[in-house]
Amino acid sequence: MIAVCRHCSKCKVNRPRGLCWSCYYTPGVKDLYPSTSKYARRGVGNFSGNAPLPDAPTTAAPGTPEKLAILEQRAKLKQAIFHPSDARYEGDPRPLEFLKARALPVAV
Ligand SMILES: [Zn+2]
Repeated sequence: MIAVCRHCSKCKVNRPRGLCWSCYYTPGVKDLYPSTSKYARRGVGNFSGNAPLPDAPTTAAPGTPEKLAILEQRAKLKQAIFHPSDARYEGDPRPLEFLKARALPVAV
């Protein structure tokens, strides 16, 4: 498979981090692409998928401003962006059930 430089999208990759020779040696460019594997993961933040789970799931439905704020906060705290018990739709009882089991306050 012939990969194309992630920075200029023109040259063939012949340096680590998916960069071409000239981009790799352009000051600052390398720092924009810490490693290939991290960018294969989904998520808002630029940290790896080994982040700890958030303390509590959120009742905010996906796509709502509340949910986006939660994701941002988690990214800032270097936590995993998604909690397995996050609400998947408006009124999803999943996070509440999780919290009932854990007896923690709801993060809204
Ligand atoms: Zn390049």
